[in-house]
Amino acid sequence: AKADGAGLFRLFEPGFEQAQIRRRHVEAELAAALDKGEIKLVYQPQVDVESERIVGFEVLARWDHPIRGRILPGEFMPVAESSRLMGRFDTYVLRLALVEARALPGVTLSVNMSALNLRNGAIFQTVAEALAETGFDPARLEIEITESAILDAAGDTQAALEKLRDMGVRLALDDFGTGHASLVHVRRFPITKLKIDKSFILNLGTDRDASAIVEYVVRLGRSLGITLTAEGVETREQLRFLRAFGAQQAQGYLFAPPLPLVAAAAMLERQQAA
Ligand code: C2E
Ligand code: CA
Ligand code: CA
Ligand code: CA
Repeated sequence: AKADGAGLFRLFEPGFEQAQIRRRHVEAELAAALDKGEIKLVYQPQVDVESERIVGFEVLARWDHPIRGRILPGEFMPVAESSRLMGRFDTYVLRLALVEARALPGVTLSVNMSALNLRNGAIFQTVAEALAETGFDPARLEIEITESAILDAAGDTQAALEKLRDMGVRLALDDFGTGHASLVHVRRFPITKLKIDKSFILNLGTDRDASAIVEYVVRLGRSLGITLTAEGVETREQLRFLRAFGAQQAQGYLFAPPLPLVAAAAMLERQQAA
């Protein structure tokens, strides 16, 4: 039975028709999961590189499936992203996060948004409504969009992102370095943070190219007045390089994995008490 369950997610197995059927099945299951509250949120600390104090949390989705247990986004996000569910999914996560984040006072909350919600400018309405309904301070909200999403952004998107900026919402460019976003793209949009993809951080200090890229991106960011965050920081050695390059923020297992809300709040409280 377990093998059958896991098979639901193996979308690219031989047999197009089979794959289509499975995809539709998972799509329906995911839609129901939203209704049943099976989509849970975990919070990963983002720290200041110098002080190692928490400056924010990134919100990451988890699917607590009644039979298969906890499922990671790598398995279900592709399904959400290729369907009409995506708008609903992002809105769900955003609203829940803004409500739950009352337990995380005084720090930034970073929420991921998929490319689909960027394309038609829907992102502005989604975010503005969620802020209005929850009363969350816009200045504490940061939206993370991937480098590839911004590459196919059109005029509507740019206008929507500018309206968000005008509200005080910050914008981070996620997975930076994995696509082909150039300086031009970065400057055209109201980006306030670059998140260097973890694939570069992984090889910091061991691979000359990766180190050179990170150093370059940090320098680029600094000259544009954009905050630099490194994701996937797992070792002291990597942190040492980031400090030397002048990156401002870091996130990764070295500090904490994505945590349940209660654990994230406790970690923040310990810090604020100290
Ligand atoms: P991402 O936005 O790049 O998130 C960072 C991923 O790196 C997360 O994986 C996180 O758990 C993982 N990570 C954190 N620290 C480390 C580390 O030190 N080492 C390594 N190797 N990995 C680390 P996760 O939670 O599995 O999420 C995967 C991706 O799914 C995210 O990548 C994001 O693109 C997407 N995603 C997750 N939640 C949401 C959501 O609510 N909405 C949208 N649109 N996308 C989401
Ligand atoms: Ca992210
Ligand atoms: Ca990322
Ligand atoms: Ca990523």
